[in-house]
Amino acid sequence: MSVFSHPEFDGHEKLVFHHDRSSGLKAIVAIHNTNLGNALGGCRMWNYASDDEAIADVLRLSKGMTYKAAITGLNIGGGKSVIIGNPRRDKTPELLRAMGRFMNSLNGEYITAEDVGIYEEDVKVIASETEYVTGFDSNSVGINGPSPYTAYGVFRGIEAAVRFRLGRNNLKGIRVAIQGVGKVGFELAQLLINVGAEVSAADIFTDSLERAVRELGVIPVPADQILYQQVDVLAPCAMGATLNKETIPQLKARIVAGSANNQLGDRSDGERLTEAGILYVPDYVINAGGLIKVYYQYFGADRQEVIRHIDQIAEETLPRIFSVARELRKPTSVIADELARERFMSGELAQTDAA
Ligand code: NAD
Repeated sequence: MSVFSHPEFDGHEKLVFHHDRSSGLKAIVAIHNTNLGNALGGCRMWNYASDDEAIADVLRLSKGMTYKAAITGLNIGGGKSVIIGNPRRDKTPELLRAMGRFMNSLNGEYITAEDVGIYEEDVKVIASETEYVTGFDSNSVGINGPSPYTAYGVFRGIEAAVRFRLGRNNLKGIRVAIQGVGKVGFELAQLLINVGAEVSAADIFTDSLERAVRELGVIPVPADQILYQQVDVLAPCAMGATLNKETIPQLKARIVAGSANNQLGDRSDGERLTEAGILYVPDYVINAGGLIKVYYQYFGADRQEVIRHIDQIAEETLPRIFSVARELRKPTSVIADELARERFMSGELAQTDAA
């Protein structure tokens, strides 16, 4: 297994492995870039098929956080962590506390939060051992985990994409297919249904899908068919790399806009989507709501400021990316990368109400 020559390495500053014998914790922290500040990014717990898969995932996710923080105008760097294990079987308070102690060993250079397989209640257990954690209710006034804010940002991003691509000012009757009705996907379905969108969804966990059908009235779709629904918007809200050379030619949606990190299999898939006439809303821009929320929460600002900042992404940043991409005939993913890279390479700090 290679690290420095890994295809996802991309100049990472640190990759730290940790094993805690008594709890069985096997975790990796990746810190991609700290030009704009210490790294902040969630912790994912997943049943990776191999250590290599976990390393590739954490490197890819952590790089994405650098780009996300930069394009969102936050003064933080990019990092992420993964715990290797099945969250439904292997997650114990001992393991989470060991993760907290691992955070302490990094002295705040990386601050963690929730992600796939890690929930707000788990974050609270991690916080019993470390201050380098955010995104739970006891360190803020009246706002809790990031997922509702991520969902809100995706919802606002879908509105922006529908306005740009379909010329429609509201989502009434717009058909949206959601892949994964977990923390973000479920909340997103709720927001869409509230404004009259027609929502179909799939999840590999049947209990999660059943809940969305029962409580929200989403139309259930088998997991292997959700990407190919005849809809206006495809919202990937599960795992990464769903958009690739096999899937893109079969997509019927005119917009792809969802919360999942690293939706493109590789850079050429951005080109493929553009050629197919599909407006791709860059994942790390549309899903930045949760990061904005945990950032302000960590540095102590209020809910209104969080919402204002998320709205700004949908109302200014995304339309700018869409227009520049159209003007230059480049993929939206490339334009987003260029704008983000420009900021984090310059190291220029933004004026924010936090910190
Ligand atoms: P989650 O674990 O709560 O939900 C993910 C859901 O996707 C689960 O219900 C899982 O069963 C389902 N799933 C996995 N593979 C699937 C497949 N092939 N088909 C259908 N369903 C599948 O995670 P989440 O917090 O909702 O995050 C979802 C995505 O959004 C992840 O990629 C995450 O990195 C990203 N994201 C989340 C946040 C946040 O605030 N939670 C912020 C930014 C990005």
